[in-house]
This record gives sequence, C-alpha cells and structure tokens, in this order.
Amino acid sequence: MAPETRGPAMHAFIASLYPICRSITGDGLRETLGRIGKHIPLTLYHVQSGKSVLDWTVPLEWNIRDAYVKNAAGERVIDFRAHNLHVVNYSLPVRAKMTLAELRPHLYTLPDQPDLIPYRTSYYTPTWGFCLAHNELVKLQEGEYEVCIDSMLAPGTLDYGECVLDGTCPDEVLISCHVCHPSLADDNLSGIAVALELAQRLQSTPHRLKYRFVFIPGTIGSITWLAYHQDAAQRVKHGLVLTCVGDAGGFRYKRSRRGNATIDRAVEHVLKHSGLAHQVIDFFPYGYDERQYCSPGFNLPVGCFMRSQHGTFPEYHTSADNLDFVRPQALGESLETLWRVVHVLENERTMLNLAPQGEPQLGKRGLYEGLGASADRRGYELALLWVLNQSDGTHSLLDIAGQAELPFDVIVRASDALVWAGLLKDANSP
Ligand code: ZN
Repeated sequence: MAPETRGPAMHAFIASLYPICRSITGDGLRETLGRIGKHIPLTLYHVQSGKSVLDWTVPLEWNIRDAYVKNAAGERVIDFRAHNLHVVNYSLPVRAKMTLAELRPHLYTLPDQPDLIPYRTSYYTPTWGFCLAHNELVKLQEGEYEVCIDSMLAPGTLDYGECVLDGTCPDEVLISCHVCHPSLADDNLSGIAVALELAQRLQSTPHRLKYRFVFIPGTIGSITWLAYHQDAAQRVKHGLVLTCVGDAGGFRYKRSRRGNATIDRAVEHVLKHSGLAHQVIDFFPYGYDERQYCSPGFNLPVGCFMRSQHGTFPEYHTSADNLDFVRPQALGESLETLWRVVHVLENERTMLNLAPQGEPQLGKRGLYEGLGASADRRGYELALLWVLNQSDGTHSLLDIAGQAELPFDVIVRASDALVWAGLLKDANSP
C-alpha cells in the first residue's frame, strides 16, 4: 500500500489518543503506551520515582481525576472535563474557596489569541493553576469561587516503551518521539502516529539496520533512556526525533549537533529531491529530545524532523493544535519522506571500482541496454559514470549522489548494475 494512503488511518489513530490526559508520568501516559503496543511489539519500562538519572531525579507520579472552578451559582466556569488543557499539567491538588482576586494569579490566558486555551506545565515547580480562553476570563464576575483540582502526586513510576526491530547488522537507527502532551495533536500525537506506521512498515520489509523506536515523555524520558541504555546509545548510527509532522507546513529538518552526520546528509538529500517545500537548519540546544541525545557526553547523530517548527506557529501549545490542525495528507507525506530516508540509510555504502584504469566499456557489457527511452535514461547513464569515477573507496553512494546532483535511488540502481557486471564491489567486503 502506498504510504500516502495511510494518512486517514494515522489521523484516526491520533483522534483516538487525543482525549487522553497525558503527562510525563501517570495513567494517561501508560494508556497511550498500551494503545501503541496493540500495533507493534513494545517493551515497557517502569522507573521508580526518586531514581537518579544522569543529573536528574525521576519525579513523583501525577494523576488527575477531575478539576473545576465553580461560581457562586455552582456552575463550572472552568471544567477539566471539557478540555484537559484547562488544568496546568502536574498541578498540586487543591480544594478551596476564594475570591476572583485570589484566584487570578493561578489563571493563565493568551490575551493575543483570546479564543485559545494555552498549554502550561509545572513539572518541576510545585504549584497549581488553570488555563482558559482570555475571552472566558473577562466574563468572570467578582465573587466567591469554589476551586478543585482532584489530582495526586505520589511515588510511582516513569514509563516508556521501546520497539526494537532487528536487522542483519548491529548498527542502530533511533527514532524517538515524546508521548507526554495531553490533548495536542501535532505536537506529540503526529510523531507517535508516523513512528508507529514506520515501525509497522519496517516489520514487513527486510532491512539491514536495527531500528529502535522509543516512545518517551519529553526531556526526563530521554534522560532516563540515556541513563539506562548507554550500550544501545553507543550503537546509534543514525537517529531522528519526530515531532509536529502532521500540520500543513513545509518540512523543517534540524541537523544533529555534528551537522554532517549521515542522517543529516540523508534527510537533506531526500528533501532536496522531494519537490516539497522544506528548510534545513543547524542544531541549537533547545527544542525536543535531540537536546539530550546531542548533549556533548553523547553527541549522537540525531536530528529533528518536523513540519512546522515548535514555538514558531500560532497553534503551538494551544487548544488550536487540535484534530483539524493535523491533516491526513500531511501525515502521509511525512511518512513517505521518512521512508525515503530509510531507503538511503539502508543502501548507503562505499563501493570500489574494479576496473579503474580508463573508463570500462559499458556498451559491450549491456549496461546501456534495456532502458528504453525512459526520461531518466540520461540520468542513469550519468550515474554509471559518476559511480565508476568516484568509487575509489573514499566516496560513499550518498556522497556521489550529492556530487552528481542525482537522486540516491538512481545512484543505487547504477551501483547494482555495475556490481552485476563485475565492475564494482562493496569496499568493505573481502
Ligand atoms: Zn510541546
């Protein structure tokens, strides 16, 4: 099935996860991992609160049953049941009666986007609060309010999941997405849906590399993963953080800290030949979990693959990042683009020309035959010459594709034909 036809299925999966109130720990996170695990083999890890992980400590587990602010008439003027963004994520429990003036410091709005509910968290600062549309705030009358956050912060676990798909060689590809945001569709759910499809597709396709998909709460999750999986981290040859891959914006790829890792060059190459709007930007030390993977003590070749970039679009971290904001078509395009990146990683290698003195005569070996008058014939013939000329053991196929300005798959086809004709071999094979 063509990947773009999976767009509606990915959107439906996002819709099924959207109502769950997730956080960096707790039942919502476990429920989400459970639903991912229904589709792919997922190993679950549970790390106790209080455990030291690198320079951090696994926090108390947070769960919430209900939250509201009621006016004097007993009406819920702010209601967690209507939208889980209404509660500051990780709020301490509270039950109190207070005036509007007392309540006001605990209310968060976006005056410039007065119809939207903001997304706020207080993971590492014990406090409580509510988020609401600014237009709703201005309607609140003076008087006494009943405030309830029926939440619980208690020792528990931090949970994350891993799906490992073995290949024929030990080199690993890390695909990481955060699973800790509540009802936000593009920022976290789109990454989960696309990663899940990618994993399912790899399960039914022979592959050389080993793929490790990690579904983790942001920041503390990747820190915990790095603390507990240092051996796997050392085997990561290529990695991507997936986030915000469902909106209609053009692609944006943030390079790894290394800047010229194979993954960086592979994604750049695929985007360049995709015909789709895109931008490639250098690494910077904020954003998502690439911050942890690319910390200097690990410096893993992990980039961040996005469409609209976090913090730069008006729907970001608001109630407008909803099921209308993510599009089946965009999800399908993201999946298809990532599949092409996988194709590059799978086929990237360095070859050796076995007849390097002069150009070998291609016509007598049938290498110019059987191509018909296809539009890409000229490109293919050029690819044969490029591969022969550059395969001195120091240029990989991706290097050659870049130099020749030809799509990687044309270079691979030329390389395969030259191997078949006995003119080329893998530089690393005996
Ligand atoms: Zn976010």
